[in-house]
Amino acid sequence: MENALTKDELIARLKEISTRGVLIAPLEGAMCYSPSFSETKKVKCQICGHYVLKYNFFCDERKTITKIVKHINQLGYDAKTEFRCEKCMQKVFNNKTDSGIIFYFKAKGDKSYHKTVSDDSCDYMAVGALLEDEEIFLGSRDEVLLLKDNVKIIKRMTGIKI
Ligand SMILES: [Zn+2]
Repeated sequence: MENALTKDELIARLKEISTRGVLIAPLEGAMCYSPSFSETKKVKCQICGHYVLKYNFFCDERKTITKIVKHINQLGYDAKTEFRCEKCMQKVFNNKTDSGIIFYFKAKGDKSYHKTVSDDSCDYMAVGALLEDEEIFLGSRDEVLLLKDNVKIIKRMTGIKI
């Protein structure tokens, strides 16, 4: 846990990363990614146990997200995800009208979790990059993205304010 940074330290890192000269130019996605929206799977709400029908694409994203969150834990941060059906989602975010994944995150020393909803693995990749002190990360079409161009995502996902 001693490797984890506080919110203030994360803010300082994000600012520092944003000033870094990046050696490689962002590349266009090499692979054309076309998610299949035809097949669905039943996904269980982790609160009430109700099943929700989701596209396979969502399930693939969720697997990737689970891996990234595990990595975030290994870096010493308290983070977790939770899949909620529409009803249970509204108990936390009353403006959300769909089922989805809640991301819970604590920087070092935080007493409560910052909570946000994201089903996009790319958002989690961005958080992972910041925590790893990397200035680049991969987008959903395997394109290379710059962390400094995605500060908004970082702020929404981690609750840090710069
Ligand atoms: Zn539920």
